[in-house]
Amino acid sequence: MKHFVIAIDGYSSCGKSTMAKELAKQLGFIYIDSGAMYRAVALFALRQGWLRDGILDKGTLCEHLNELQISFCQSDNESKSLICLNGEIVEKEIRGLEVSNAVSIVAQVPEVREKMIDLQRHIAANAQVVMDGRDIGTVVFPDAELKIFVTADAAVRAQRRYDELLAKGENASLEDIRKNIEMRDHMDLNRPISPLRQAEDALVLDNGSMSIEEQNAWLLDKYHQLIK
Ligand code: C5P
Repeated sequence: MKHFVIAIDGYSSCGKSTMAKELAKQLGFIYIDSGAMYRAVALFALRQGWLRDGILDKGTLCEHLNELQISFCQSDNESKSLICLNGEIVEKEIRGLEVSNAVSIVAQVPEVREKMIDLQRHIAANAQVVMDGRDIGTVVFPDAELKIFVTADAAVRAQRRYDELLAKGENASLEDIRKNIEMRDHMDLNRPISPLRQAEDALVLDNGSMSIEEQNAWLLDKYHQLIK
């Protein structure tokens, strides 16, 4: 099959990655987590001390963007791809609240977006991919064959994220998670460049009261209807 893109955009903590990963597995496509790429940039800026107390030294980050290398590598025991920052696997480091609170700040920088979008297009060139994010169907691949826009109530999203962290044995505060989700929604929706928007030709999936299995079945069904 030739180049084929399934774009899954939507609000923070909607379960996009879980469903995108499963869909990619079912179809034998590559899965790309574009949010992980922005998270890796945030981690880079935090580690360098260019992002402190919510204030980003944008000029310095942009000056050093050419030293930032982001890639995905395959784990040994799973077929999962892991995000690497300058050759180091940072899958765990990018999921904490510190990076979650910083990521929407670096994601607003045009130079950062330009670099990530180039990379996303490069990875997807001549491939069949499922990519999730905020601007995949609107900016990165406006001609994507299938576009999905995922939404759910913020309280439902916070509760799910909270349960997920507790299940992993991590400490979490439901209130802090809800604040983080609302803050990211606000920043993603209101940034001047590539704001979170539903593409006109996207299919909307409100998964607030759906199980993971129901979402996966819904997505597969949309894919099969399309290629029929
Ligand atoms: O998908 P995830 O929640 O991990 O994304 C983290 C953050 O990265 C988002 O809140 C958003 O600010 C940014 N992002 C983006 N464009 C994308 C994917 C993520 O701006 N395509």
